[in-house]
Amino acid sequence: MKYFAIFGNPVSHSKSPLMHNLVFKGLDFNGCYGRYLLEDGKKLKEKFLELGLDGINITVPHKEEAYLACDYLDSFAKRVGAVNTIVNRDGKLYGYNTDALGFLKAIGEFKDIKKVLFLGAGGTARSTSSILRDNGYIVTILNRSDARLKSFKDDGFKSYTFDNFIISEEYDLIINMTSAGLADDLLPAPKEILDKVIPSAKACVDVIYGKETPFLKLSKSYSKPTKDGSDMLLYQGIIASEYFMNNSYNFEEIESKMKLAFR
Ligand code: NDP
Repeated sequence: MKYFAIFGNPVSHSKSPLMHNLVFKGLDFNGCYGRYLLEDGKKLKEKFLELGLDGINITVPHKEEAYLACDYLDSFAKRVGAVNTIVNRDGKLYGYNTDALGFLKAIGEFKDIKKVLFLGAGGTARSTSSILRDNGYIVTILNRSDARLKSFKDDGFKSYTFDNFIISEEYDLIINMTSAGLADDLLPAPKEILDKVIPSAKACVDVIYGKETPFLKLSKSYSKPTKDGSDMLLYQGIIASEYFMNNSYNFEEIESKMKLAFR
């Protein structure tokens, strides 16, 4: 039997145990996936090994600690400094970032997209902006405050706060990368700004899943195609599951079982 878990704080709400256990059961893989409330991120490696786990996913707020805990990192995880999937191979921890690839796949349905406006500059924006740029998109970052923008600026992204944002171009896709709307009813940016950028967009996306956020509501009021973060969650989970099961099953086989968690 192989043992897996999600580490996070909070972690009780996570859909990952359901998603992964449906795959193990559906594909007859001898595995079991639980959840672990990790309060101190610095103890991630110690707890992982102590619990005798074969792999974990990591959710907020430990993705950076997870990156630091790994013995080996795949090149993309190394570049973005965040890990959400770890596999134990002979006592060594191998780290991956499947959030970004999952996100890239999730927005693939929107065609003729070049310019993308990110609302938010947190850890998720960090990894997804890199993968989008790798794949030919032009990403601009708009964030509430300045502190998190430094690393984006250093990396060559056009980056603004609400106060210095000048709308000099049209954006094809607007994405809420913040937690605004998750546990509150807030928009991720002032309405005056959103009212200027949404009308010319081809679509609007939110990484928050399982609810219609004020951002998606506003986007729909402009008759824009929208999607929430459910596909991103599903796809990052499928890619993590490929790692957990050592690539014994392909994407479609895993998807057919994991998506049952979203019915
Ligand atoms: P971080 O804590 O790293 O960053 C939060 C970001 O949100 C910051 O840019 C912050 O701005 C901004 N923000 C927070 N509250 C507000 C507000 N009221 N108004 C405007 N901006 C605000 O979070 P993550 O990057 O880890 O996560 C971001 C979102 O992505 C979360 O909602 C999370 O649930 C979601 N997510 C979804 C996944 C999926 O599979 N669908 C996977 C991973 C994450 P500031 O810098 O000014 O504080």
